[in-house]
Amino acid sequence: MISTKIQSVIRDIHDFPKPGIVFKDVTPIFKDAGLCLEIVDAFADQLSGLEIDVVAGVESRGFLFGLMLAAKLNVPFVPVRKPGKLPFSIVKKSYELEYGSATIEMHTDAIEPGNRVLVHDDLLATGGTAVAASELIQELGGVVAGYAFVINLDFLKGSERLREFSPNIVSLAS
Ligand code: 5GP
Repeated sequence: MISTKIQSVIRDIHDFPKPGIVFKDVTPIFKDAGLCLEIVDAFADQLSGLEIDVVAGVESRGFLFGLMLAAKLNVPFVPVRKPGKLPFSIVKKSYELEYGSATIEMHTDAIEPGNRVLVHDDLLATGGTAVAASELIQELGGVVAGYAFVINLDFLKGSERLREFSPNIVSLAS
C-alpha cells in the first residue's frame, strides 16, 4: 500500500520550526525515485475522470510533485509562491496562521478564465494555505477542480474547509 510506504519514510521532527510543533519531514520521500513515481501514478489514478486544465503547486514542497503530476497529466504547471518571488504582475492573498499571518501570490496570467485547476501541496494541515490558493484561483476566474496532497493531517479537519471549493480531495497518507 502506498500509504504504508509513505508512512515508513516520513519522520516526525519535534519542536520544528518552533517549540511545541511536531513537523512531518517529507524529504526522505524524494530520495526514493521509485516511490516518487508511485506517488505520481497514485495521484493520476485517483484523479482519473476529473477534468483538469492546470496544476497549481504551492511553494515550495508543492512544486516537486506538482510539476511531475502536471507532466503526467499533460497540462500546464503554475506556481503559487511566497511574497516577492514572482517577477510578472501578481494577485495576492493573506491568511491567518496559528501564530501570525502569511501571504501567497500567483501570476495574473497563470490561468485562463474557466480553467479547471488542481491544487497540489505536500501536506494539508488546517487548510488555510489551500483555501487562500483556491481564493486566488477564483479571483483569476478559474474553477477549483480538486486537491491532491501527499499527506492529510485528518485530525485538523482541513478538508472540511476545502469542500466549499471542491469535493474532490485526494490524499495518499495521513
Ligand atoms: P495549512 O495551511 O493547511 O495549515 O498548512 C499546510 C501548509 O504548511 C503546506 O504548505 C505545508 O507544506 C506546510 N506544513 C504545515 N505543517 C507541515 C508539516 O508538518 N510538514 C510539512 N512538510 N509541511 C507542513
